[in-house]
Amino acid sequence: MSALEVILRLRPTKSEAVGLYKKDSRTVILKSKSGNQEEYKFERVYDTDDSQQTIYGENVCHLVTKVLDGVNVSVLAYGPTGTGKTYTIEGESVSGKEGIIPRAALELCKKVRHLSDDSLLTISCMEVYNEKIIDLLNNDPKPDLKLFEDAQGLIEVEGLTKLTLNSFDDFRNLFLLAKERRTVGATSLNEKSSRSHAIWRFRVNRKIGTGSDAIDREAKIDLVDLAGSEDNRKTLSTDQRFIESTKINLSLTVLKRVIKSVAAKEKNIPTRESKLTRLLRDAFGGNAHTLLILNVGPEEENLRDSSASLDFSTVAKQVLNSPFEGLSMTTPKKTSRMPLELNRTPTSPFA
Ligand code: ADP
Ligand code: MG
Repeated sequence: MSALEVILRLRPTKSEAVGLYKKDSRTVILKSKSGNQEEYKFERVYDTDDSQQTIYGENVCHLVTKVLDGVNVSVLAYGPTGTGKTYTIEGESVSGKEGIIPRAALELCKKVRHLSDDSLLTISCMEVYNEKIIDLLNNDPKPDLKLFEDAQGLIEVEGLTKLTLNSFDDFRNLFLLAKERRTVGATSLNEKSSRSHAIWRFRVNRKIGTGSDAIDREAKIDLVDLAGSEDNRKTLSTDQRFIESTKINLSLTVLKRVIKSVAAKEKNIPTRESKLTRLLRDAFGGNAHTLLILNVGPEEENLRDSSASLDFSTVAKQVLNSPFEGLSMTTPKKTSRMPLELNRTPTSPFA
């Protein structure tokens, strides 16, 4: 199983001037106004009418099972504003339109309940905005939380709120709260464009075995709604917006560089150069598994931004072909790994 998968999801459109089409389950065609056609391949390609349940069931459901087996997982939605990142990750509170977060939360709640009494499921939620980390589950959040490396060599956020989830109802309330707190602002490109990166972190702690032989196993899944990847020169911004744009692009630029470096097997992976990549560092090495969802709008007018996303994906594709052999960025934890039980059957009651 590869350590990084890149999938593509096309957003529905009312426009007749479409420049990006699904060709088959792995290929999209990008058609330029001059009639040139290029094909791009992905692990999987989802069309405009593919459901939230399909995206979750085919891509995320089995990753949730991996977390219980001690594997760190991250799911990132990447793409320009208005292409469906938030729809994919958070979804809407309408039956059938729930996104990856509530579906994963429900499954984790159910699965952890069936483990030993000592097992624990916790949730944290933060956003990276202007290269500052803000706790979305704290009523009185600090302006910027610091990152540090813990005794096991894992990156942690100092003072980040971590709440225990005993039931799906616990989650539901926190989900609403954090969504409201997320920083959104108006830009000329899209009135409600999200300019922050939102990271939902679920962590599972479980004890395997009994007595003195018992082993603690911990793993996390990060579900990330990245800020819009558009060229911010298009957004006619005030000075403040310009600063935000630059910093949003910094995190995304570094994210691309990190993926390129991993692909090239470079010794120095530049995760330290942005808050976002430091926060997600554990997703880029060791036994981690990353799913990158490229959200794209198929309209011709968006082709420039779409093609920028597609170029990113071709970089990511190299990673897919050359997994992280010999690359050690995190100190392995002293935990045993059980065989992976892959479970691709959706167990979520969401339609
Ligand atoms: P982003 O977070 O990338 O800026 P959104 O998730 O807000 O984009 O999506 C923009 C609009 O398109 C929203 O109104 C959303 O409901 C709609 N949308 C996006 N993807 C889909 C989809 N696959 N099916 C139905 N509506 C979608
Ligand atoms: Mg959004």
